[in-house]
Amino acid sequence: MGKMTLQQKLGILSDAAKYDASCSSSGGAKRDSRDGAGLGSTTGSGICHAYAPDGRCISLLKILMTNQCIFDCAYCINRRSSNVRRARFTVDEVVHLTTEFYRRNYIEGLFLSSGIIRSSDYTMEQMVLIVEKLRADGFRGYVHLKTIPDASPELIERAGRCADRLSINIELPQDRSIAELAPEKDGADIRKAMAGVRLLKDSADEPTFRGRRDRFAPAGQSTQMIVGADDSTDADVLGQSTRLYGAYGLKRVYYSAFSPIPDASAVLPLKDPPLMREHRLYQADWLLRYYEFGLDEITSAAPDGNLDLDVDPKLAWALSNRDRFPVDVNRADREALLRVPGFGSKIVDRIVKARRQVTLGLEDIRRMGGRVKAALPFVTARDHHPSGSLDAVDLRARYVKPKQMELFA
Ligand code: SF4
Repeated sequence: MGKMTLQQKLGILSDAAKYDASCSSSGGAKRDSRDGAGLGSTTGSGICHAYAPDGRCISLLKILMTNQCIFDCAYCINRRSSNVRRARFTVDEVVHLTTEFYRRNYIEGLFLSSGIIRSSDYTMEQMVLIVEKLRADGFRGYVHLKTIPDASPELIERAGRCADRLSINIELPQDRSIAELAPEKDGADIRKAMAGVRLLKDSADEPTFRGRRDRFAPAGQSTQMIVGADDSTDADVLGQSTRLYGAYGLKRVYYSAFSPIPDASAVLPLKDPPLMREHRLYQADWLLRYYEFGLDEITSAAPDGNLDLDVDPKLAWALSNRDRFPVDVNRADREALLRVPGFGSKIVDRIVKARRQVTLGLEDIRRMGGRVKAALPFVTARDHHPSGSLDAVDLRARYVKPKQMELFA
């Protein structure tokens, strides 16, 4: 490994980072193939795209500091017993790469994670040193730093002082799965670390008597959960997310559909879950956070605990709560409008504003951007009074059939 060039290390350690879902290109397909820092041509420069807290899409250098690891998490390609090629960046190498990519406008920030070398504290300190050095050199880009749950509180505090976002992976939806598949990890320890980050952030956000706030992970904390590596249902997954959002003030839970890795452990399923499962979980998560849906409402439309893969969770809920419809677009409150399939929160805001002036018809709603065809059976409007369409036995099928999917898209 001593002879490995920086370019080779970048190839290995950006590839190893692709299993993390926190960037949109986690599958590697959207990798930016530009090369940087005079490194010659590489298999991919490890640039991924992620959403900044203000909603902007930004480019990040996404790498592991090392893919060596003393832990043996069954679902991870970098686990101790895996037979992959290993590499390790020094602190200065990561600082150099990040600075060069940033200077050339290839990236707007750094996403840094790592396998665990020697000990959690040793590894965490190396990662913190990287970010501290970058900041000392005047680097003002965005930094998302993976945090090792059992690293000392002092190191986590240093991490939050220099990084924008901290994330601590919950790994799996249930503690018993963590015990089984990640024997060196502990669900309670992971949550304790999240609580520590929350306390530090809350106290930093509290203005002092001079009105000054300390800087601690201004973009908050997030986590990642692997879906489909154990037998947890979507209700288990969303239940865990709801608890984590509530207890630790997380900004995001990322769902990562388990993908069978080369050289996989025998305790894992042989097949990966459909990617649609991951997609439906993100949609349900969105409803929980922004559409005032309760967990029980979403899971009530998922009788076996798993979301309907054929229709999105909002439509699934509407189909199993037909007595709540049709909703009158000219009178219904905001909460009821948010539950109409095809109406996003922006459309609902526009409807609420516009109906103060006029009585709205379907064309008005179409002009505002509402997906009228999807909403048709569920609303009434000035010129639309459906009768009996909610009772149609084939209502769900109309949304599922390929030609109808096109119609309702
Ligand atoms: S701690 Fe577990 S998940 Fe993280 S790199 Fe090591 S084996 Fe992989």
